[in-house]
Amino acid sequence: MNIHEYQAKQLLARYDVAVPRGGVAYTPTEVESVAQELGGPVWVVKAQIHAGGRGKGGGVKVVRSLDETRDAAKAMIGMTLVTHQTGPQGKTVRRVYIEEGCDIARELYLGMLIDRASSRVTVMASTEGGMEIEEVAAKTPEKILKVAVDPTVGLQPFQARQLAFGLKLEGKQVSAAVKFMLAIYDAYIGLDASLLEINPLIVTGDGAVVALDAKMNFDDNALFRHKDVEELRDEDEEDPAELAAARHDLNYIKLNGNIGCMVNGAGLAMATMDIIKLHGGEPANFLDVGGGASREQVTTAFKIIMSDANVQGILVNIFGGIMRCDVIAEGVIAAAKEVSLGVPLVVRLAGTNVDLGKKILAESGLDIVAADDIGDAAEKVVRAVKEAA
Ligand code: ADP
Ligand code: MG
Repeated sequence: MNIHEYQAKQLLARYDVAVPRGGVAYTPTEVESVAQELGGPVWVVKAQIHAGGRGKGGGVKVVRSLDETRDAAKAMIGMTLVTHQTGPQGKTVRRVYIEEGCDIARELYLGMLIDRASSRVTVMASTEGGMEIEEVAAKTPEKILKVAVDPTVGLQPFQARQLAFGLKLEGKQVSAAVKFMLAIYDAYIGLDASLLEINPLIVTGDGAVVALDAKMNFDDNALFRHKDVEELRDEDEEDPAELAAARHDLNYIKLNGNIGCMVNGAGLAMATMDIIKLHGGEPANFLDVGGGASREQVTTAFKIIMSDANVQGILVNIFGGIMRCDVIAEGVIAAAKEVSLGVPLVVRLAGTNVDLGKKILAESGLDIVAADDIGDAAEKVVRAVKEAA
């Protein structure tokens, strides 16, 4: 799960991470009262969307009077902001953050994530603040400093100092940076974050170290123990299909192909995607309906697959272990009727109650192609999609 910049800053402030003062607003009137309370003389109006690169796209504006603040907010609220992270369709700005303007002496980068190779939280720092870290990694990898954290003892002050010196901080900036890094590490662990990025981390004119931007992602599997974080979810920012899937306990990830897949079990779902590709097709999604999906879940799964305009064919591949093939068959029929299926549908069933399942499908009157095994199913769906095109 992702949250907005201002929400991340509010969470981080609880852990004593230094952030500028600011307030969120949904209307130009609210903007004015927030700005008045902050007091100026310089404010920054920042569009709140779940994407970076706002500065270059016109989503960050430095202003010097209350009138300017209100005008900037007026222009920003409701605008479609396009950045290199939003895709060409952009995102609608529904809230803005008004922050005190900071005196920036240096812009640095600080990030934290789980490095799968070392299985450790890794802290990354770079003097190239404000730039995309992916770009820095590609062009000048030597400018990225990394330390891996031993989970039994956490981030150690000597490691933070090593990074601070690597960032060429001096004097009291070093202790400020060490305090900052230890605090964001506490926040990262305490909130079960999966990614935390401060870009830029700034050094101010008087030597303070402050988070000017903040991005946080959370481990969805740990959200049950962070109700306050869960409440920060902004559904306007989420993919509607993935949102519907999450509500029905379905594991759905949209991909770029044209063959929709409905499978039970993550392993079988991966194998199904592989075999579609082996036969020259491209899966439109990963979808695991789980071991014991209900008829309603199957219907929802179907609707979610069909909500993707790229889908030109569907492959249902079910191995009935705990799941019964007749339940799947009924779900498929109910859904196919509801969403008026306009694309070829190939179904492969195996396992518990398979004969009953096949019978239900055959007698449904729907145009369903039955397949005998997973290879046969993939071949049939790929061929059907090619023929329909
Ligand atoms: P994004 O990463 O989406 O472009 P940032 O929050 O990083 O958005 O802001 C982009 C740039 O705007 C920063 O690198 C900084 O130069 C400037 N900026 C952002 N917030 C402030 C602030 N409070 N005071 C002064 N400058 C700011
Ligand atoms: Mg940024």
